[in-house]
Amino acid sequence: MKRRDFVKGAALAAGAVALAACGQKEEQAAAPKDAAPAPAMPPAPAISKQMRELKMVTTWPKGFPGLGTGAQRLADSITAMTDGRITVKLFGGGELVPALESFDAVSNGTADMYHGADYYWQGKSKAFNFFTAVPFGLTANEMDAWLYYGGGQELWDELSAGFNVKPFAAGNTGVQMGGWFNKEMNTVEDYKGLKMRMPGLGGEVLRQIGGQSITLPGGEIFPSLQSGAIDATEWVGPWNDLAMGFYKVTKYYYYPGFHEPGSTLSCGVNAGVWNSLSAEDKAVVQFACAAENNRMFGEFNAKNGDSLDTLINEHGVQLRRQSDDILKAIGDASGDVMAAVAASDPLSQKIYDNFLSFRKKAMGWTSLSETAYTAARALDYKYGA
Ligand code: CA
Repeated sequence: MKRRDFVKGAALAAGAVALAACGQKEEQAAAPKDAAPAPAMPPAPAISKQMRELKMVTTWPKGFPGLGTGAQRLADSITAMTDGRITVKLFGGGELVPALESFDAVSNGTADMYHGADYYWQGKSKAFNFFTAVPFGLTANEMDAWLYYGGGQELWDELSAGFNVKPFAAGNTGVQMGGWFNKEMNTVEDYKGLKMRMPGLGGEVLRQIGGQSITLPGGEIFPSLQSGAIDATEWVGPWNDLAMGFYKVTKYYYYPGFHEPGSTLSCGVNAGVWNSLSAEDKAVVQFACAAENNRMFGEFNAKNGDSLDTLINEHGVQLRRQSDDILKAIGDASGDVMAAVAASDPLSQKIYDNFLSFRKKAMGWTSLSETAYTAARALDYKYGA
């Protein structure tokens, strides 16, 4: 999902402008009106309970499957775990501020926190791409390893601190699909002139191999595919793609998606708000984000499996793997695009260097663990009925 996917949906989802929520209020025990004055005694201290309402803006329409529902779950988790001290009020994209202004709203204090995808902020720094997904980058498991134990979080903190934001990983879509095509893609030549809806860095890679990258909001993809205005599109994966109905107009569904190998969603908190929280409430926010990071990934994996089955067995979708030759050409182009991202500013270069060295290590372990095991599990042997 790239930034424009949600623009239209967010605009549609925009309802009445939400009432400005109070940032902080105190509940004080009312003094009984008929109490006799007691001048000799100092007034009893008011029983006060600090209750805060934090406004969470999002880049998704409210209730958008997986992403919007995940943001709501995060808001509800923080509310539940702070036992009344904090209530997180969620605003869908466009309700309080336009979806893609969520970052600015948190940065300047109009909102307290956002749930979104940090590659939407690449106009501020290309380095934000690293913290969502980059072509031929890290899988969801590897992103967690990098962020939590490989120095990624510290670099993310450094990048976001420049914008008055404290960031956390708070969701993952897993590996996305390569996309829907109106013809079989047998060689890299088949990409020449291909008009594909592919925003962001993936789109830059597509252009490098001769394709035309088209950026369309979510609501315009299906009609464009139907009319032939575009030849192909990427979106997310089987669960979200089934809902978009792409199978009705094209049958070739390619994997894997090189461009988004494990898109991390993020929760950014205004730095002033973050610093004002107690140690306990900071821990709640941190671990609620970590929990959602994991839960959303589980939800996508569970629902993608079921939806893929529906696409193939009920809708006759033809599943195809991109050939190694095509993937290698895309890999070369991805390397060029990432080198250009690194060269855009010194902090991007610093993050890229760390990312690249972590990626190398991750590839070694992943191939011996997840890749080797899942290949072994797929061998032909007797197991179960
Ligand atoms: Ca996508």
